[in-house]
Amino acid sequence: MDGRHCARPGCDTVAAAKLTYDYARRTVWLDPFEGDLEVGAWGMCAAHADGLRVPVGWARDDRRTPIIPIRRPLAV
Ligand SMILES: [Zn+2]
Repeated sequence: MDGRHCARPGCDTVAAAKLTYDYARRTVWLDPFEGDLEVGAWGMCAAHADGLRVPVGWARDDRRTPIIPIRRPLAV
């Protein structure tokens, strides 16, 4: 596995999200995939990231939400 494709078995789609987790905090994070994966991180395609289920009692923190640009005031 080269880490740039989805980690799900049978899926060879290019990774669009980075999945990390912390057993102690029972949290799974989804972040935008930026080309590198640290130790313990997994690449996921968008479909599998979107459909990701976490175990009961775990939190799923999706940080891929696009940043909404702040509108400029109309009168400058
Ligand atoms: Zn996938």
